[in-house]
Amino acid sequence: MSDHASPAIPARVLPELRDRNRKFWTAGADGRLYITQCTQCSLWVSPPADDCPECGARLEARPVSGHGNVLTYTVNWQPFNPAVPVPYVIAIIELEEQRDLRLAANIVDCEPDSVYSGMPVEVRLERQHAGDEVAYVPVFVPISA
Ligand SMILES: [Zn+2]
Repeated sequence: MSDHASPAIPARVLPELRDRNRKFWTAGADGRLYITQCTQCSLWVSPPADDCPECGARLEARPVSGHGNVLTYTVNWQPFNPAVPVPYVIAIIELEEQRDLRLAANIVDCEPDSVYSGMPVEVRLERQHAGDEVAYVPVFVPISA
């Protein structure tokens, strides 16, 4: 496994890793985004949950394409966390796998004012440390036409 961490990657605010969300945050070593999917009815569920909200069956983290569109976004100028430089874009991404399959993430590699609703994006997994664990944080970058 190569180490992609570099000083150029700013810190991201990470949640506490728990059994429910650990796979989501740690599975990205292969560069793919994992989302929990129902083992019975195939419903994608984000954020991770314990059971399928539709049929109650077990969920399993499975890789998705990592492609989606910006549903809505905001540009943050408030330095809430001194480790995270401003401005940065927080967006709700709708993944292409399923209508309403949404994920909150930063948009990177573009000017904040170039982001728009409907913008096609693809995932990039950033290697970060979450306590004693390594987490792969999904951020999204514009897909150049
Ligand atoms: Zn289900």
